[in-house]
Amino acid sequence: MDLLQLLIIGILGLAVVVAGTVFLARRQAVHGRAKPELPAKPSAEPQPPAVQQGDQPGEPTGDAPGAAAATTLERPEAPANRMARLRRKLAGSTNPLARGLLSILSSDRLDADTWDDFEATLITSDLGVGPTQELTEALRRELAIDGVNDPARAKQTLRTELLKLVNPHLDRTLKVEGSDGKPGVVLVVGVNGTGKTTTIGKISRVLVAEDKSVVLGAADTFRAAAADQLQTWGDRVGVPTVRGPEGGDPAAVAYQAVQRGIDDGADVVVVDTAGRLHTKTGLMDELGKIKRVIEKLAPVTEVLLLIDATTGQNGLIQARVFAEVVQITGIVLSKLDGSAKGGIVVQVQRELGVPVKLIGLGEGVDDLVPFEAEAFVDALLSE
Ligand code: GDP
Repeated sequence: MDLLQLLIIGILGLAVVVAGTVFLARRQAVHGRAKPELPAKPSAEPQPPAVQQGDQPGEPTGDAPGAAAATTLERPEAPANRMARLRRKLAGSTNPLARGLLSILSSDRLDADTWDDFEATLITSDLGVGPTQELTEALRRELAIDGVNDPARAKQTLRTELLKLVNPHLDRTLKVEGSDGKPGVVLVVGVNGTGKTTTIGKISRVLVAEDKSVVLGAADTFRAAAADQLQTWGDRVGVPTVRGPEGGDPAAVAYQAVQRGIDDGADVVVVDTAGRLHTKTGLMDELGKIKRVIEKLAPVTEVLLLIDATTGQNGLIQARVFAEVVQITGIVLSKLDGSAKGGIVVQVQRELGVPVKLIGLGEGVDDLVPFEAEAFVDALLSE
């Protein structure tokens, strides 16, 4: 083999090595692109954005009121449906007050015994002694001549007298309008378990449906579960919840909630409060402090007191204690469905001199209805 042959073999060998290297390099490059790192497997359904847990004092959760509201378009049911439900829940057979009232209309004779029975039934239906006597006297007077021979007229008389007790002239509108560009502030107070959180959720739902932007303040810092429950309602209707650490200062959370409402240009701030051990002066002082602190920022436009209608006289005792500490402007009577005795409406209004503004007729989202004297009386008298 001469030198030329050796040279040609060498060049060919070199060419093979170079071609092989280039081929391998290209293949690796292509291979690398073809197998990118796998992205996280997308879930079957789009996930909602993570909700901040708000572990800093007063740290808000959720989005700005307007943006968040767009995600939820639950609408409360129509007023006509709510009234129908009111009738169903309060009508004759299921309600002691209604039964008592209707019994008078079906009496053969209106003698002393009949009136005594009537009075006794009304008192057991939480109407209170004073209103019961007034109603009985008025009816005895009105029905003295014709009795109940004309049932339609007798019923009308009953309706008129009952309506006077419930007082159709009280202003029952919720005061949620702020002034000077600040949000309206609704403070919700009452013993635990009366339905504060549920009521706030339902009120927010109605406000959102009216295109109002809302901020919730979880000033019940004694139980983490209370703030969680409130936030669940907030998320459901798409409004932010300002909360603080468990055991933190409730007044600080209330303040920060109102501040958030002002910063966001919200229409209404609704503040939940703790209501355990209402007899403890300390806790009641706390409520006064919450109100004072909020009012450094904006006036409290409405103070709603929750009363569980099934607790009867106990509910009234609680109401008195709350009324001593903070000026109540409206009463929410929850749990008027089921075993509740409707008479408490009249008694509590008399006791506190404050109108019943909302009534709870069940646990459902649309079971909170504005109280209307006529509708209430008509529901009681419907058979
Ligand atoms: P809070 O401790 O005052 O905040 O009370 P919650 O809002 O947690 O309510 C206590 C319980 O009462 C819950 O199980 C509610 O679903 C229930 N509740 C609230 N309002 C009504 C109502 O009008 N009728 C009935 N039947 N239950 C209600």
